[in-house]
Parts: sequence; C-alpha cells; structure tokens
Amino acid sequence: MNQEIERIEFTAEMRKTYKILLPNMLTLHFRILVGAFQGMGYNVELLTSCDRTIVDEGLKYVHNDTCYPALLVIGQFISALKSGRYDLDHTALLLTQTGGGCRASNYIHLLRKALVKAGFPQVPVISLNPAGLEKNSGFVIDLTMIRRALAGVIYGDLITLLANQTMAYETVPGATAAVTDRWVSLLAEELRAGRLVSRGKIKKTMKKIVADFAAIPLERVPKPKVGIVGEIYVKYSPLANNALEEFLHNEGCEVNVPGLLGFLQYIFDNNIADVDLYGGKKSLRFVNALLRRLLVSYETMMRKSIRKGSDLFCPAPHARVRELGDETIGLGCKMGEGWLLTAEMIELCEAGYENIVCVQPFGCLPNHIVGKGMVRKIRSTHPEANIVAVDYDPGATKVNQENRIKLMLSVAREKLEAGVRPAAESLHAEERSEARAEEGKSRKVGEAVTAKEGSVS
Ligand code: SF4
Repeated sequence: MNQEIERIEFTAEMRKTYKILLPNMLTLHFRILVGAFQGMGYNVELLTSCDRTIVDEGLKYVHNDTCYPALLVIGQFISALKSGRYDLDHTALLLTQTGGGCRASNYIHLLRKALVKAGFPQVPVISLNPAGLEKNSGFVIDLTMIRRALAGVIYGDLITLLANQTMAYETVPGATAAVTDRWVSLLAEELRAGRLVSRGKIKKTMKKIVADFAAIPLERVPKPKVGIVGEIYVKYSPLANNALEEFLHNEGCEVNVPGLLGFLQYIFDNNIADVDLYGGKKSLRFVNALLRRLLVSYETMMRKSIRKGSDLFCPAPHARVRELGDETIGLGCKMGEGWLLTAEMIELCEAGYENIVCVQPFGCLPNHIVGKGMVRKIRSTHPEANIVAVDYDPGATKVNQENRIKLMLSVAREKLEAGVRPAAESLHAEERSEARAEEGKSRKVGEAVTAKEGSVS
C-alpha cells in the first residue's frame, strides 16, 4: 500500500526534459503565470479542457464523497494523460496545496493513488505550497519565482476587476475582451522575459492597464450587480462552477469576483491568528506580519491606480474585510475559506453588490458553515442582502443551479424596477469625492494593525 503512494521527486534533470501540466483554476491569472514559469525554465502547459469526461474520469479514480475540487483536478489530469498528447515518461503534474487544516492539503496523496490506479505510477507530482510541505530538487520556490508569481497575481486581479465592470456596460461589444486579451498576452510575454516584476514597473504598468480600461466607452444602464464568493476552486474555476461568470454576464449582470490577493493575505492572517490564539513562535508571527505587509503595499498601489485613473469601482482594502470578519464570525474560524467568505459577502453588500451567489462543493462542511450558515446573520445587519447558496458536485445539474440563480436575479431585477437604487450606483457617483477620506480611513486601519503587530512582536 505504501509502495502505491510512494512519492517520485521532480529532479533537476527532469526540469530540462519534462512538460509540467497545470490544472485550470483562474483562467486569466494562470495564463499570465504560465509565461512566468516558462521564463524560469519550466516547460509548463495550462490544461483548458472543460468537458464532462473530466468528471467521469474523476469519478473512476476517487470516491464520489471526495471534495468536488479534488475530483475535478484529478479527473482533468488523468483525462489529459490518457489523451495521447503527452509523452508519459516526460510529463509531471503541478498541484497547489494550501497548507491549511482542511482536506485541500491532502489532495496530493489522492492524486498519487489515482495515478497508480490509472496506470501512470511514473508521473511525478509537484506540490506548489507556501508552507514547505514537500520539496523537489528540480522545482525550487526562490525569490525570482515569488516575485514573478506575485506580479502575475496582482495583474490578474486588476484586469479581472476592471474587465468585469466594463464588460457589463461597453457600447462596442467585444471592446473589453480585446483589451483584456491584449494585456494578458503582453504580460505573459513580459513575465516570461522577467520584466515588469519590480515595484516601480508594476506601479507604472497598473496605471497603463487602468487607463486602457477607463478609455472603453460605457453606457451605465441599471443592471443587477452580482458578487461571487465561495470555496476558492469553485469560485474561480469555470470548470467547477459551470462557467458562472459567463452565465451572469449573459443574464445582463455586472459581476464582481473578489481577488486572489485578499486570499493570500488571509493565509498570513491565519498564521498570525494561530500564534495569537494558541501560542507559538513570535518570530513566526513576525515573518507572517511582514509578508502580509508586503501584500498590503501592493494592494494599496492597485487601489490608488484605480481611484486616480478611473471612475471604476475599487473594493475596500483587505484590512477592512478582516475587520468585518472579526466583528461577525471571528478570526479563529479559518477552515476552508473561513471568516474570509463571510466577510467578503458583507463587503460586497456594503459596496452595492448585494446580490450574491455563494458557491460551494456539495458536502464541503467548512464552507457551508461560513457561507450558507452565515446568511441569516448577514441579513440581520444587511437586510438588502439577496444571497443564493449553490452547491456543485458531479450529480448536480447545471439547469437546476441556473434556475436557482435566476430566482435570485428576478428579486434583484424587481428591486431595480421598483427604483431601489443599488448602493454601488451611488458609490460610483460619490466615490471620487470620498476617495480622499476613505484612503485616510484605510491608512488609519493599516496603522492600527501595524502598531498592534509592533507591540506583539
Ligand atoms: S474547503 Fe471544502 S472542498 Fe475544500 S478541501 Fe475543505 S472540505 Fe474540501
């Protein structure tokens, strides 16, 4: 049995000749990140397949009780290996591990078992994780990789945020898609060459990206504003959520999907909360606080570039989201997407995106607690919240999921027709004048957090 799940290390030798397959989660971000990895000498390919055979392959090799994201990722890998397109003796797989307490940290063992069962025991699996869970001599997470990956995340978040807004109101159909595609291709190329990753370059590039999206002609007709929150894989992956973003766009909505930078800060928040709540090394707390502060500085840079360069909506800083999580559910609640999921729903309500689709895999206990389980509590303080919780699993039909979402949208449209003005509309009008005041407020929150960290460490 132990033999079956024996780990094959990805060696330095393999790095020269192997192709590494990457599962599809954030389509736009990962397109940029593929360029970054290729520039560091890894022959990486992003899997973009999105058909039913992936689910069927997943069901063959993992139990149907297994978390849906694991079933899909494993199914996508096995389906690719069976496709005949790859040299099976020179192919490796890359899987992310969160390092948290949930089952996501253990998918990698399920994948190795599935590979043996499917007849591919020779295929190495590389773990990409921030916690040093597994090491491979041929895949080293060094400063170069961190800088390029971070740049990819920042650019991906910015483009997603802006594109979702302009796409809903563009007067020339396809204008947003053209700007998005141009930037994603250009950034993948630049990151491949190791350019546009320094702070100064990122700042300048963000300004240019914002200017390009701000130049897209828009007609701001009233539309339902819909936020998407949930378990990270189902929230972002069109494969897992049956192309939810596209469905909402086709239904005439403006979509808002909170970015990955907030999730990365949440990982550091959790490490800090562990020390605060249960004790542990102060040095560990200090390092996590430092890393979080680095992410905050990029977030501030992004927010400034949006506010200064456009009239487009800019989300609250993560410090504010954390504050909401602390007030509502507590920072110790951190299994799955933990307090972040609850806090993102409240932040969306406060930003005018009070119509929310909360997505989770069926049987995902942690996210049912912090997602669906918190809806009543959120409604008690934000009665405007119009939230629908939707489950995803191999047996759930797309038609049922879409019908439930359409029901939520009909309530949103009724409110629009009745003249209940979404808060976001007023935000658009007032945002510029409030920008200075709010920037001061978030600076104060940041300073308070920094002072607190300083006093503890
Ligand atoms: S968050 Fe849910 S889906 Fe993800 S590993 Fe945990 S239980 Fe599974």
